[in-house]
Amino acid sequence: MATIAEERIDRLHALARRAAAEDEYERSREYVRLARRIAERNRCGLPRPFKRFTCDRCDVYLRPGRNARVRTQEGHVVVTCDCGAHQRYPYRDGG
Ligand SMILES: [Zn+2]
Repeated sequence: MATIAEERIDRLHALARRAAAEDEYERSREYVRLARRIAERNRCGLPRPFKRFTCDRCDVYLRPGRNARVRTQEGHVVVTCDCGAHQRYPYRDGG
């Protein structure tokens, strides 16, 4: 069962995604930062999709093709945010 913190993070994740979909990137950053703070305070960690779709450097919610580019390289997925930060993770890591 999800804790209250996890539920709040899920909700903020959805809000960040929607804000990014509406090109409201600054608003998406606020949601992402808030979710990170909740995770920190509650030591519950962030869900994998949240980490995948947020930039570690500028906190924006990433939309491939809009504010991020995605390519695969030697078994890895490399996501490049418009701010220039790269995120790299294995192509298949089984969740
Ligand atoms: Zn960024």
